[in-house]
Amino acid sequence: MLMFQYLEELHALLTGSCSRFILVPLSSPRGPAPRPRLSRRNRSVLFEINAPKCVGCLACVRVCPAEAVAVDGAAVSIVDEVCIRCGLCVPACPHGAIDTVGDLAAATALAARGTAVLILTVEAAAHFYPHAPEQVINACYQAGFRAVHHGVLGDELVAEEYVKLWADPEWGTLVRSTCPVIVETIRHEYPELVPYLAPVKTPIAAEAQYLKQMYGPDVPLVYAGVCLTDGVEDVDAAITFEELERLLLARDVTVSEQPAFFERIPEERRRHLSTAGGMPLPVLQEEHQASRRFRKLRGMGGLGALARAAVEEVDLGFVDILPCEGCLDHPLLGPPEELYWRRQVVVESEPKRSALPVLEPDHGLDVSRGFAFVRNGKRPPADAVEQVIETIGRTPAGTPWDCGACGYGTCAAFAAALLNGRATYRQCAPYQERRLAAAEREAAVDALTGLATYRVLQERLAQEIARSERSGDPFAVMFVDLDHFKRLNDGYGHARGNQVLQAVGRELHEAVRSTDIAARFGGDEFVVILVRTNAAGGLRVAEAVRRAVEGVGPNLGFAPGEVTASLGVAGYEPARKGQDILDAADRALYRAKAGGGNAVA
Ligand code: SF4
Ligand code: SF4
Ligand code: SF4
Repeated sequence: MLMFQYLEELHALLTGSCSRFILVPLSSPRGPAPRPRLSRRNRSVLFEINAPKCVGCLACVRVCPAEAVAVDGAAVSIVDEVCIRCGLCVPACPHGAIDTVGDLAAATALAARGTAVLILTVEAAAHFYPHAPEQVINACYQAGFRAVHHGVLGDELVAEEYVKLWADPEWGTLVRSTCPVIVETIRHEYPELVPYLAPVKTPIAAEAQYLKQMYGPDVPLVYAGVCLTDGVEDVDAAITFEELERLLLARDVTVSEQPAFFERIPEERRRHLSTAGGMPLPVLQEEHQASRRFRKLRGMGGLGALARAAVEEVDLGFVDILPCEGCLDHPLLGPPEELYWRRQVVVESEPKRSALPVLEPDHGLDVSRGFAFVRNGKRPPADAVEQVIETIGRTPAGTPWDCGACGYGTCAAFAAALLNGRATYRQCAPYQERRLAAAEREAAVDALTGLATYRVLQERLAQEIARSERSGDPFAVMFVDLDHFKRLNDGYGHARGNQVLQAVGRELHEAVRSTDIAARFGGDEFVVILVRTNAAGGLRVAEAVRRAVEGVGPNLGFAPGEVTASLGVAGYEPARKGQDILDAADRALYRAKAGGGNAVA
């Protein structure tokens, strides 16, 4: 029944008639979002880019599963509202430029006050190794904490709730919701799975609630661990293990100097029902190949298939999904290859399982919860996405490249991020390649006349000289200079002058073969290289060009003889080393000009 109700509500949400769920637009669907704003969410730990260390390599963009890294020109930042605190970007950054920042000042002040309770999660045993867990806990007491709990009570509370759900035969698909990373990803990326999330709080939230009941509603709570997402409204300050080390230092407490036995009776550390993370042992024991009520998935890659199954209304049973191998696999705890070592350390630090419940029998706490949908405001209009894909360019088959080089799986995902102000074209390799090719083309072609530029002329001249000396073939160079062009420009204006230059460019282009090259040398001067042509052949081409330029003037409305050119030709002789062929053609040009212009020499 519960599932049908959820499906109805999901439908209501998608059709806009929902009233129960909170719709949280992340950004306007029109146009780029405003610059990301950093804020401390529910007293959780922030992931921040350390700007002086960041070189903008974008390695973090490529690993972030939540598209939470924003790139604006050279500036890289993390959008806190979208960050799911998975920590993957921290080891991925080759420059150590991503900081995790908890509320250390508040935690230290609360410890100093002597009234705060610390939730120190069990992963601390691996972080503080080789110090014994007893030494760490003694140190926390010495720093001023009134009590030190371990997240175990939260796991037990959550496990109780899961056992109740497990006993209900009505559910068809139920997705584990103890991991905030999975919950946040589902809420933002796979809203169709929200109705299937087990309606249970996170272990930290449950433990905070339990401790408030145990010590009184005003007791300050500090959380130290790696489960850094929000949802812990009852916690007053959240810090990382590194920050706890700094807190101890600030409180003048040295872990290594603590005795390796408990100095006072420790708070409850035993488990009865739960395993780490809040799953009940009896449910996990259901895991076997043939189980139709239980399946275990690790990694975010499985969410797409789950979402599809949900849409198709396929009953999957209980889906135990985590982004990694549990909290001990969190990137902030160390490299993945040390996972089993960390596990060993933590397992050895755990006390024996209790045969009896460790929670107060009549605690009466309600640790169920609902999940708010987040309207996926990240999706910009389809035509804007299309426009970005057009700008990037397509494969020869007309499809988007979808190469993933930018850190987004598809061009459409990249386009959405770009339109939301979280990405730049700098990240797209095919786009940059096209830009480079276009820039090279621009550098090679004179914008006004469409002829080659001076740079290309120089390169080609060097090639022709080398080839001529190798093969013994001659080639000719022709210098073209418009007569009295300044007078024409001054008399008729630059626009008309440009028309003349363009028309002469066209005539030169027509006059040469595809193997020759015509270039604008500068101003009203042009140079043509005529391959496998001797000086006599060059003179013939020059005469044809001179006549063609004579015809340009009347065609453009000038009087006959107002637009003419002088041309100088020189032939390159392979046997004569060290000739300056350009200079020779230039000198010939001056001879042609000396007779009054409109001549060839
Ligand atoms: S912590 Fe995870 S979600 Fe947040 S920016 Fe880093 S990789 Fe992205
Ligand atoms: S990985 Fe990200 S934070 Fe690190 S240097 Fe590169 S762009 Fe900057
Ligand atoms: S073509 Fe560009 S935008 Fe598309 S996936 Fe590749 S790098 Fe990303």
